[in-house]
Amino acid sequence: MLSNLAARDVETLIHPYTNLATFRETGPLVLERGHGVWVYDSDGRPYLEGMAGLWCTALGYSNEELVEAATEQMSRLPFTHLFSGRSHDPAIELAETLKELMPIPTSKVFFTSSGSEANDTQVKLTWYLNNALGRPRKKKIISRIRGYHGVTVATASMTGLPANHADWDLPLPGFLHTACAHHYRFAEAGETEEAFSARLADELEALILREDPDTVAAFVAEPVMGAGGAVVPPAGYFAKIQAVLNRYDVRFIADEVICGFGRLGTWFGSEALGLRPDTLSFAKGVTSGYMPLGGVTVDEPLYRAMVSQSAKLGTFGHGTTYSGHPVACAVALKTIEIFRRDRIVEGVAEKAPHFQARLSALAEHPLIGEARGIGLIGGIEIVADKRTKRQYEPKAGVAARCVAFAQGEGLIVRFLAGDRVAICPPLVIAPGEIDTLFDRLTRALDRTAAWIA
Ligand code: PLP
Repeated sequence: MLSNLAARDVETLIHPYTNLATFRETGPLVLERGHGVWVYDSDGRPYLEGMAGLWCTALGYSNEELVEAATEQMSRLPFTHLFSGRSHDPAIELAETLKELMPIPTSKVFFTSSGSEANDTQVKLTWYLNNALGRPRKKKIISRIRGYHGVTVATASMTGLPANHADWDLPLPGFLHTACAHHYRFAEAGETEEAFSARLADELEALILREDPDTVAAFVAEPVMGAGGAVVPPAGYFAKIQAVLNRYDVRFIADEVICGFGRLGTWFGSEALGLRPDTLSFAKGVTSGYMPLGGVTVDEPLYRAMVSQSAKLGTFGHGTTYSGHPVACAVALKTIEIFRRDRIVEGVAEKAPHFQARLSALAEHPLIGEARGIGLIGGIEIVADKRTKRQYEPKAGVAARCVAFAQGEGLIVRFLAGDRVAICPPLVIAPGEIDTLFDRLTRALDRTAAWIA
């Protein structure tokens, strides 16, 4: 029997990324409040939030300073926009702060309200740039199979997951996908990580040549793939990919929506993994998820092109009502202030060895083929046969079942396609809570194994 709230939900709400057929039976998990790394459902049951919401609540729940920053801005100036040269101090100060933090040369910052809008903006700016540079054919965008970049028409096209394409008439023409850098799943027998990376870089080069380099504009990648399975790139991967991109003058966009703001133990994932992108997209952690905010960095050559286009066309014809929302900017500024004061990024680096040791130990479990991560992010892959890496039938829904058992144990983790489970707790998680997380996940795996048997 569904509770009153749950029943009302089923009759009124469409939920993103939910099986709307089975949902009619299961109903929602209605959360009511949060504190630290814990969230509480409408019956008062606590859950360790092992996914930081959706990879975003870096500072955990109930952070009073963030609440105060939002409240103060709400009462002072709840809304103004950045259109037609209008401005406000939180946006100016945040852009300055972000310029200081960025690991790549950054001339300006453009704000959005989500990661999807940030990556959509990247596509549009890439096209705009190449038109400004007199290269109207150089427009194709390459992303990776299992990459995740959002759900707008363009970013769902970039996303390399079947659920975002099937029956959505996507990807659009001009959006291409290259191989997924998942060594455990796609390396040939005996192939080292370096050799696998070299093969993938060769495949990317072959794709660019086949398409004609004069038509290929940009390559986009997450430093660590999130929704595709929390996949850490194999050794040498980005250096080799980068060399190919440089050879054909292909713009490199790093999607830092998950990895940005400390997740890997560095401010940005690009620093941890040696990416040197032309631009990056951010969202999520920048406000610890407390307000919707995203954005992209604009390098100086792009900025010059944008200025000359404005001179020619009369305006920079892009932006949304909530680009640089003052309350979101105020919360982001406070988030970054707390990150700096409380050494959040350093704290991730300190806690990561313990987290990763507990994660790696899961590889001993009879159901686990791979358990791997970096910083405070990790993924496990459930297999039917550890030796052959054979997977269960997708219909069996084994990882989904494991996540349901975890919920029963008071732990929220996320099920991903391909029988993978992601773990991505708030960055403020304490060492003892890391143990609680993995103890509960182990019990959920044991219950899954018993259910299969
Ligand atoms: N890029 C990455 C790497 C993401 O993980 C996500 C969301 O999970 C997005 C982009 C899209 O962000 P949003 O859901 O805020 O549109």
